Amino acid sequence: MAVPKRKTSPSRRGMRRSHDALTVDAFHECSNCGELKRPHNLCNACGHYNGREIVAVGL
Ligand SMILES: [Zn+2]
Repeated sequence: MAVPKRKTSPSRRGMRRSHDALTVDAFHECSNCGELKRPHNLCNACGHYNGREIVAVGL
């Protein structure tokens, strides 16, 4: 069985993992109306947040 000749140093391991970070999307779909909204922010289109209507939007 092929086996690595040397132990990977913490530095090498960090270099390998430098590309592994997850990125956070700047926009998510509103669960109420499907419009794109910023995460952790009130939806601009329907005024909902976390499944509740926070701000009444004029019709
Ligand atoms: Zn919405």
